[in-house]
Amino acid sequence: MNNSGIKVRLVIGLIMAFMAVLSYYGKTQENPLTGEKQQVNLTPEQEVAMGLQAAPQMAEEFGGLYPDKQVQDQVKTLGNKLITIFNQDVKSRGMGNPFSFDFHVLADSKTINAFALPGGQIFITAALLGKLKSSDQLAGVIGHEIGHVVFRHSSEQMAQTEFYQGLAGAATAVAGDMGASQIANYVAQAKLMKFGRNDELESDEFGIKYMVMAGYDPNAMIEVMEILAESGGGSERDEFMSTHPSPANRIIKIKEHIAKYGK
Ligand SMILES: [Zn+2]
Repeated sequence: MNNSGIKVRLVIGLIMAFMAVLSYYGKTQENPLTGEKQQVNLTPEQEVAMGLQAAPQMAEEFGGLYPDKQVQDQVKTLGNKLITIFNQDVKSRGMGNPFSFDFHVLADSKTINAFALPGGQIFITAALLGKLKSSDQLAGVIGHEIGHVVFRHSSEQMAQTEFYQGLAGAATAVAGDMGASQIANYVAQAKLMKFGRNDELESDEFGIKYMVMAGYDPNAMIEVMEILAESGGGSERDEFMSTHPSPANRIIKIKEHIAKYGK
């Protein structure tokens, strides 16, 4: 191959990289609740719609919904209590909450996990619920997951994934309404989602803030960390522990937040 052939390839490569960067930063949005500038490719309303569409398949991946309605209602009631407090707080700051939250217990009795789809569909497995000893601890888990939704961590991750695909020359557009294969992709991606250290610390802080405001004991967040660490946290599938700061470091941060928000 001659020299000019290499140059042409280089130029094409640079243009493709440049286009990927452009489309990534073209997605910058201001988070309606935190004011943070973020790279996301969906509006909050699209996140809600896609989350709702993907929720049944997500449940399917974890053995369906836990069959006891009373248990489902218990988690929904607690989740809605946190959301009511959150909405009041958001309103007092002159903003509105564009997300639509719902809370589900999954039948899976082996996988100790909780997670959130973009837009507000939140799940906890029966396995994790069974490990929790108080509603304060449950509020810690649910509050943390609500934090991931509000900070739009999944959407940021998905935008980044697309960004890297774009760099590889395979950018794909996300349509508003999803087909079966898109839902499958979306669920697969959401299942593999690993948040960074800062995302986890941010969600811990969010959880603690609203636990306190809703009248729960924020020290229960420390107990949740201990329960997760004891039950073999750190497994690949565990959203709570996967890419996390070490539990010891995390607990130090949690104590700082409790001192900040606690009464
Ligand atoms: Zn998390």
